[in-house]
Amino acid sequence: MGFKKLFWQFYFSFLLITVIVSVALTILSSRLLTNSFINETQKALETEAKFVSQAISQDIIDAKLSRVEQFCKQIGNNSDTRVTVIEPSGKVIGDSQRNPILMGNHSNRPEIISVKRNKIGIETRYSQTLDQPMMYIAIGLYKDKKLISIIRTSKSLTTIDMTLGGLRRAIIKYSLIIVIISAFLSLIITRRINRPLEEIISGLDNFAQGNFDQSLTIPHTKDLAKLSIAMNNMASELDVRIHDILNQKNEMQAILTSMSEGVIALDSSGNILNINAAACVMLSIDDCNNPISTKDEIPNTVLREFIDHSLKDSMSVDTELDILDEPRKNLRVRCNPLINSHNQMIGTIVVLNDITILRQLERVRSEFVANVSHELKTPITSIMGFIETLRDGVIENPDQAQHFMEIIARQARRLNSIIEDILILSKIEDQSNQNKIDTQIGSIKSSIDSAIEVCQIRAAKKNIKIITAENDIEAPINEFLLEQAIVNLLSNAIKYSDENKTVEILLASDSKYATISVIDHGYGIGAEHLERIFERFYVVDKARSRNLGGTGLGLAIVKHIAQAHKGFVSIESELAKGSVFTIHIPLSLE
Ligand code: ADP
Repeated sequence: MGFKKLFWQFYFSFLLITVIVSVALTILSSRLLTNSFINETQKALETEAKFVSQAISQDIIDAKLSRVEQFCKQIGNNSDTRVTVIEPSGKVIGDSQRNPILMGNHSNRPEIISVKRNKIGIETRYSQTLDQPMMYIAIGLYKDKKLISIIRTSKSLTTIDMTLGGLRRAIIKYSLIIVIISAFLSLIITRRINRPLEEIISGLDNFAQGNFDQSLTIPHTKDLAKLSIAMNNMASELDVRIHDILNQKNEMQAILTSMSEGVIALDSSGNILNINAAACVMLSIDDCNNPISTKDEIPNTVLREFIDHSLKDSMSVDTELDILDEPRKNLRVRCNPLINSHNQMIGTIVVLNDITILRQLERVRSEFVANVSHELKTPITSIMGFIETLRDGVIENPDQAQHFMEIIARQARRLNSIIEDILILSKIEDQSNQNKIDTQIGSIKSSIDSAIEVCQIRAAKKNIKIITAENDIEAPINEFLLEQAIVNLLSNAIKYSDENKTVEILLASDSKYATISVIDHGYGIGAEHLERIFERFYVVDKARSRNLGGTGLGLAIVKHIAQAHKGFVSIESELAKGSVFTIHIPLSLE
């Protein structure tokens, strides 16, 4: 739709009015002028006729017709009025422009007929004598109330028309000048009226774009000033409200963004009104700045159906969702209807909780219970079996009995070490979970030395040499726990190395961590085991580990001790070459 500019609407309206008024005035004035000119001409002709009538009345009475004719000619020489003197019979006795003898009888001329009826004869018609349109006035000359002669004055209409034409042209010329001046003045006036309006409009454009800083200038016109003031008030009111709404929106967005729960708000048609970052992460929606817009784009069929169900039945529902795509997740989903102030359901709000870790912990716990039961069951079954055998008479055979007793003692020791390790592990886990590990700035070297002392006898048995660093680093440590971790690594290094090897302990640091590396040249570990080596009860070679008195908990304990110090463990190993286990302990607790 094409809109006309207000300026041109105003301007053309002004101009149209001016043109109409000018044309009307031109027509009217030209008509009035024509009428008044004709009236004036008639009056002049009548006056002249009366003058002639007085001048020749005596000559007529005295029948001095040649003097009448002469008088007519005289007048004809001095003016453009034609004078004709006619007898009541119609015979012309004098004419200012023609020879009366040559002129025909005029008794049938309408102006002559009017005079005979005692009226002034007024006529405009074509003169056969002069061969042009003429205006005639005829009056009667009376003696003793008897018509003795008719005096007729006349003027050529061509002359009148020429004069009137000149006047009309002048009127049109001045009208045109008036129209041009009016057009120019209209332009100036329209500009003056329109400028404040345009300023208001451009100010309103600014407002519409949300730019409320610049107020409208107040025009001098009272009504426009009122309008501008009202608009300015409205703009500042809008500004405040928009700021409020934006603040509320930002606050709400900040709350939603910082929530660890995923939140999706949908309207009753399934359009997504809001989705927070946590929900995007949980549902693996990559671009959360440009997220999905309808529920159909939610990348999980079960969740989509669940939302459909909640929207249809308008009730709170919850369920658990297993996301099988990588990374696998377990989500708890709760849908609550969104109710407006009129108690109408306008959509649903979906709250997602990532319970993957919870489920993992449950799994680990139940696996742990199964593992513990299994690990305990083996030595117990063995002990019970050998006791039965002893009871059944083997006890009578001292050599055999002695052998069985040793096996029972070994299994009992194994039971003891498993239980001891489990107790240590759960204690560390407990303390670590509650952040209750006692740490003090202490010498790592002294923990290493104590650990070497503990393992020295075992090392000596296999003629394994333990080489240790001479340097020392101080860090916030729990000496007892760190010693325990180093003992575990050192005893593994001894356990899983052949005789006459060496085991090295290196102490180093980088900008953040102190690192304690236990390096052996033993059997090494296959790459496929490295990922799970720190899990509880994970052993590479069950038989070997059991023979060597392993429980499968030593490395799990090391990992937990490192984590309790806010550090971690790492491993590098190659089969038949050896392994490097490193504990990383932060140099400070900040
Ligand atoms: P275990 O009590 O059986 O030694 P750990 O948790 O200490 O249990 O170790 C788990 C498994 O890791 C061991 O069974 C062993 O197979 C492997 N392992 C640990 N340390 C070493 C090492 N230094 N060299 C080779 N294998 C090792």
